[in-house]
Amino acid sequence: MSSTDPVPDLEAGIQYWATQPANYDGVLGGFGTGSLPRVDSLGSRRFLLDLLPELSTVPSPFRSLSAPPSETRRVRALDVGAGVGRVTSDVLLPLVSDVVLLEPVEPFINEARSRGKASESGLEINDSGYRVLWKGIADRSKSGQPLDRVGYLPQDGDDDMESKFDVIWCQWCLGHLKDDDLVQFLQRSRKALRDARSLIVVKENICREQSEPVTVFDEQDSSFTRSDLAFKNVFRDAGLKIIQEKIQHGLPEGLFPVKMYALREA
Ligand code: SAH
Repeated sequence: MSSTDPVPDLEAGIQYWATQPANYDGVLGGFGTGSLPRVDSLGSRRFLLDLLPELSTVPSPFRSLSAPPSETRRVRALDVGAGVGRVTSDVLLPLVSDVVLLEPVEPFINEARSRGKASESGLEINDSGYRVLWKGIADRSKSGQPLDRVGYLPQDGDDDMESKFDVIWCQWCLGHLKDDDLVQFLQRSRKALRDARSLIVVKENICREQSEPVTVFDEQDSSFTRSDLAFKNVFRDAGLKIIQEKIQHGLPEGLFPVKMYALREA
């Protein structure tokens, strides 16, 4: 790329999303009512369960359902660029106890909050005390701003776990960050992982490449689409290693291939 090539503008990206309806069609570019949401969320759950089988909600050698609640540690996820809370309600809340959502677009947040409340996951939802969300991925360094939370139940003495997560899920939103912002964001995410089993999952569109990394600018929402190698370079620069990578099969024709990467500290 030359220095005059366009790069994503965060505010322009957020302004674009603010014009979209606060529903599945809005966050999925018109693919909200077909098979895509179901295929996508099943693929995501499967991917996560393969990596963290202890999250399974059916009895297995990894999880005895008769374990008293005190022995079951709460598992916490962060849904980055959460939109209307689709990933939260369809992928994360069925598998983890608490989800924190990062989403800058107010109508999306409101929709996500009501979806969280309506969730049939049997989880208690408590969003009192946490209102406004940070204003986008790149602003997270200005910490001290409260995060918006769905399903978050503070535990006694978990203050210093305040910003630690077992799973950090980033889907269809990282294109809003240019490379150095993305590296920084992933470094901060890496430091926010709770322990050695914790994971960052990136699920994004992938564009074609030959042997060189490729990054394509999309004017409509001021975002980048990256090729596989472009993502891998960013992950390396952020000090992350790839634990698992997988193409999401079964999505409608004509879309970019979608790929999932599970990442841990290198
Ligand atoms: N991940 C969701 C939503 C995808 S739509 C899903 O898969 O259903 C992309 C989302 O990224 C929108 O909700 C948009 O508001 C959000 N987004 C855009 N710029 C962002 C930024 N700088 N920080 C965080 N989220 C952002």
